[in-house]
Amino acid sequence: MSKLKVAELFYSIQGEGRYMGVPSVFLRVFGCNFTCSGFGMPKGELSMEAAGIAATHSLITPFQTYNALPLVSTGCDSYASWMPEFKDLSPMLTTDSITDTIMDMLPHKRWEDEHLVITGGEPLLGWQRAYPALLDNPKMQALKEITFETNGTQMLTNEFAHYLHNEWTHYEGYNSLTFSVSPKLSVSGEKWEEAIKPDVVAQYNEYGYTYLKFVVASQEDADEAEQAVDLYRKAGFDGPVYLMPLGGVESVYSLNNRAVAEMAMKKGWRYSDRLQVPLFKNEWGT
Ligand code: SF4
Repeated sequence: MSKLKVAELFYSIQGEGRYMGVPSVFLRVFGCNFTCSGFGMPKGELSMEAAGIAATHSLITPFQTYNALPLVSTGCDSYASWMPEFKDLSPMLTTDSITDTIMDMLPHKRWEDEHLVITGGEPLLGWQRAYPALLDNPKMQALKEITFETNGTQMLTNEFAHYLHNEWTHYEGYNSLTFSVSPKLSVSGEKWEEAIKPDVVAQYNEYGYTYLKFVVASQEDADEAEQAVDLYRKAGFDGPVYLMPLGGVESVYSLNNRAVAEMAMKKGWRYSDRLQVPLFKNEWGT
């Protein structure tokens, strides 16, 4: 029986990108190939905020649940979904138990207009092997729309690509399968050559509706996004581009959301809000 290491499983409103405002189940799997410690930091500096929380968790007082962890204003706001120090808070769950939990949380105890977001961490690491068992579960038959929220660095395996294209029983064209790709610019602290993978995004583009969503804090970031978009376009990506303000906490987000909207307008791109910040203060489980 297939299992996934699950950091969070919750029902909320999608706050970002194409499905902003749509009731959605979020399945956040454990593990990431990046650390994104540069978010919210002066250029060239890396955040130690999550490392400090990890030291408390490991050495002083362990947090009992994922939802008890503090939020951070710098670095990756999903730090506990990939830092090894927190792996004990993400249980290995069978795909059957995941689908049972999803049915319990849906308002009508079955899929209706809700959509499924598979996120992380980075959801397209090794977990690709377990998604067919999850999506083939009889309780998932009425699910019509899925988004993978990915950093755009992991190729689909041949097996999973074949499954998505030929076997996912609800696949009815690109509209039902979405890749929301958030490439990491230098503001994240990650290296360009490891983060910008045009061939990977071109592959997603073949299998589902694919868009790019860049987290930016300044005009310099938006200009860097433009350089990346040129490379993605040359590789065959033909979807829309979004700019989204930096800020997992309201004090940071509200500093630059209007400026980012104006940058998006100037480039002819879309603006994505982060509705989970003003609506729910970005608390865990929202
Ligand atoms: S890619 Fe996403 S989940 Fe991974 S470290 Fe960066 S922001 Fe966090």
